[in-house]
Amino acid sequence: MAIVTPQAIRQDFPLLMQRPDLVYLNSAATSQKPEVVIETISRYYRELNASIHRGAYTLSVQASEAYEQARHTLARFIGADEREVIFVRNTTEALNLVAYAWGLRNLRPGDEILLTEMEHHANLVPWHLICERTGARIKAIPLGPDGRLELEALHTLLTQRVKLVSVMHVSNVLGTVNPVAEIAQAAKAVGALVVVDGAQSAPHMPIDVRALGADFYAFSGHKMLGPTGVGVLWGRYEALETLAPFLGGGSMIREVYVERSTYAAPPQRFEAGTPAVAEAIGLAAAAEYLMNLGMDRVWQHELELAAYALKRLDEELPEVRTFGPRGPGRGGVIPFVLGDIHAHDVATALDQYGIAVRAGHHCAQPLHRKLGVPATVRASFYVYTTLEDIDRFIEALKKVRDFFKDWL
Ligand code: PMP
Repeated sequence: MAIVTPQAIRQDFPLLMQRPDLVYLNSAATSQKPEVVIETISRYYRELNASIHRGAYTLSVQASEAYEQARHTLARFIGADEREVIFVRNTTEALNLVAYAWGLRNLRPGDEILLTEMEHHANLVPWHLICERTGARIKAIPLGPDGRLELEALHTLLTQRVKLVSVMHVSNVLGTVNPVAEIAQAAKAVGALVVVDGAQSAPHMPIDVRALGADFYAFSGHKMLGPTGVGVLWGRYEALETLAPFLGGGSMIREVYVERSTYAAPPQRFEAGTPAVAEAIGLAAAAEYLMNLGMDRVWQHELELAAYALKRLDEELPEVRTFGPRGPGRGGVIPFVLGDIHAHDVATALDQYGIAVRAGHHCAQPLHRKLGVPATVRASFYVYTTLEDIDRFIEALKKVRDFFKDWL
């Protein structure tokens, strides 16, 4: 199996080509976009733009076909049936959709929702809002000192009261790959619904939603080479059919009277109003680009980058403390602190050398509380990240370390 050759891949990314001095290490927040995605969106507006699913005219039919073809491509990307793919704005909206459409109707006082201590706020706050309205309660699978979930706790946590389990597949901070299939199996044994936040897995590894054993799987386009403003909620069709609509309006109805309405079947039931047509088509171009590279190779590349970066940090920068699991199967995300220097100061100093990293709590405050640090610096990798990028990052970090040496 040939490995991904990031030097060649970079040629496809206009922004990276225009800025050879930039070392972009913030792909976990949002990825750069290849020419084919930019061009697909541009071509849609130049050649195909029309209101979809409504017009009787040829242009509208063609635009509708392109949008439905995009749904088909995204279904192929995750091993799903196209009727199970709902276009949403992003992972956040997908998780809110399940929380409102399923949670409001099905949760009662005393019911429990099981999350984990490493969740992104997008998989915490929607459940807080639903618990306030329904009287349900939240529990969490604890995070162990090795950066992995303590699955032994599942036996006591998974009681008959648990009606829903929602977990992230890959941590946006620690790079941990959670054993989602195992968790889903245990959750199913108590009859709980299973939701997976795939924001950090769909862009990076092969996904087969059926093999995960979940009922719902959410991801964002902008983290997988696609545009902002579009993402996907996948749902097992039988699970989708039981959901009430989340947003009401045009396109999601069967019949409307002044006083009441009936609703379309999924996926249309969950796509009220004019969708992000150009974005969905652009996302399909991104998915095709990734499938051509081969998702198993994308993942392999990131594992290699993470192992290389961690090795160099361990050996050459003892002042740096990294977090997250060691050993096989860790994604291309490395959070760290430099002594007690604030993460923002370290990131600002790295920027002086052209290194773009993120600093803060990365929308995971409970996780940072558990780690015992207010913030971390995070370097994250993707298909276009090279070993030279990591070398330049390490050399810059050494200079930053030297600059702050009196405070270390
Ligand atoms: N979950 C995880 C694990 C994430 O990393 C992110 C993005 N940082 C989100 C959810 C939210 O994604 P979006 O902002 O695209 O809705």
